[in-house]
Amino acid sequence: MQEMMNSLQPISSWLPDLNGPLVIAGPCSAESESQVLKTAQALKQIPQVRLLRAGIWKPRTRPNTFEGVGEAGLPWLKLARQETGLPVSTEVANGRHVELALKYEVDVLWIGARTTASPFAVQEIADALKGVDIPVLVKNPINADLALWLGALERLATVGLTKLGAIHRGFSSYQTSKYRNLPLWKIPMELERRFPNLPLICDPSHIAGARSMIYEVSQKALDLGMQGIMIETHPDPDNALSDAQQQVTPARLQEIIKALAVRTPSVDSPGFQQELDELRGQIDRIDHEIMEALSHRMQVVHKIGDAKVRHGVTALQVKRMDQIIQKQMKLAEDLDLRPDYVQDIYRTVHEESVRTQTEMMHQAGHDVGNKA
Ligand code: PEP
Ligand code: MN
Repeated sequence: MQEMMNSLQPISSWLPDLNGPLVIAGPCSAESESQVLKTAQALKQIPQVRLLRAGIWKPRTRPNTFEGVGEAGLPWLKLARQETGLPVSTEVANGRHVELALKYEVDVLWIGARTTASPFAVQEIADALKGVDIPVLVKNPINADLALWLGALERLATVGLTKLGAIHRGFSSYQTSKYRNLPLWKIPMELERRFPNLPLICDPSHIAGARSMIYEVSQKALDLGMQGIMIETHPDPDNALSDAQQQVTPARLQEIIKALAVRTPSVDSPGFQQELDELRGQIDRIDHEIMEALSHRMQVVHKIGDAKVRHGVTALQVKRMDQIIQKQMKLAEDLDLRPDYVQDIYRTVHEESVRTQTEMMHQAGHDVGNKA
């Protein structure tokens, strides 16, 4: 897997002269020839937009809602590319979709969140793409499962695709939140850490679910170093046949792009490099101290564990756990640390102590059992 992912090609291999983040824009769904052409023409005026998107087959939560125009929409995409020069992309959810998309020369394919969660469908798509090295972007599965996301990428890489990318579109949750799909940024960041060669693009439209939050989610994605954004754009969002709440007009898209601050992963400035090296040296020393403190703490945890075993006391003492967490959260405020951050850390630290002591008790039980 690691080797296959290391040999992936950068976005610039399939979109030459890309400078700055890739912006993919276009309607949630292709609705009519004139809507597709009108959108494409408006987007053509925005230089950062390098790829048109439009859903042809729409996986909908409920039946009897608009499920996309189907094959009839594919010539519209082809025409949009002819008229504007913008390459086009659409979602494929099975082998037949792939066959048709290739027939109409769609430039880039993406796999939707519901499909990524379905290994048989992904395999069928991979098999249909054997021998065709077209760029394919894989949206995260709707559930927060990094392994499933990776599994889909692996199925595609295994048939020889080298122009793969991942799209972070958030994760569905039963919990109500301001987002339509929770971003859970840690998951795409872990993907990036493990496979730095895999281009990672954010889809703020499906994360936000509302126009008003597209800008802030996009900025966050760029701040984290993501290489592009996919933003649903419609000439008349209020009357869109799907995802009306989250689509923006091309004019609004242009404002959003203008307002976004683009940061680079590195700069060629010796002064900056020296400053960074110095500060990173400090961080490394502090991390070392933290590790030593954790190790020291664990030695004491063992001593407490011994005493608990001797006295037949439970490892988990709920009152004690609450005390520790409360105390540290109070200290967090005094030390200018976010209490939630400290709470997360201390939950983990305390859980490991309890785990260690339960293990000791288990072991002691065995020793007694073996002696009997
Ligand atoms: C879409 O891009 O319109 C779409 C259906 O997205 P997702 O698969 O992320 O829900
Ligand atoms: Mn959509």
